[in-house]
Amino acid sequence: MNQDQNKAAALTVPCPQCKTELVWDTSNIFRPFCSESCKNHDLIAWANEEHNIPGDSLHDDVLSRDLEQDF
Ligand SMILES: [Zn+2]
Repeated sequence: MNQDQNKAAALTVPCPQCKTELVWDTSNIFRPFCSESCKNHDLIAWANEEHNIPGDSLHDDVLSRDLEQDF
């Protein structure tokens, strides 16, 4: 039974970025991505989403600055 598991050890997963099938290997530091560029693309997309979240951070900064000046 253990011998059969060894034969089926090559698990492939699609890269979340480019959908390329890659072998799931613990030595692949870019998991679950196929390459560093795909990993970076995902980070950039995530960062852009963070920046696009509508928020009043700038407004809050101006308000708190006004409060400090009033003091
Ligand atoms: Zn990829």
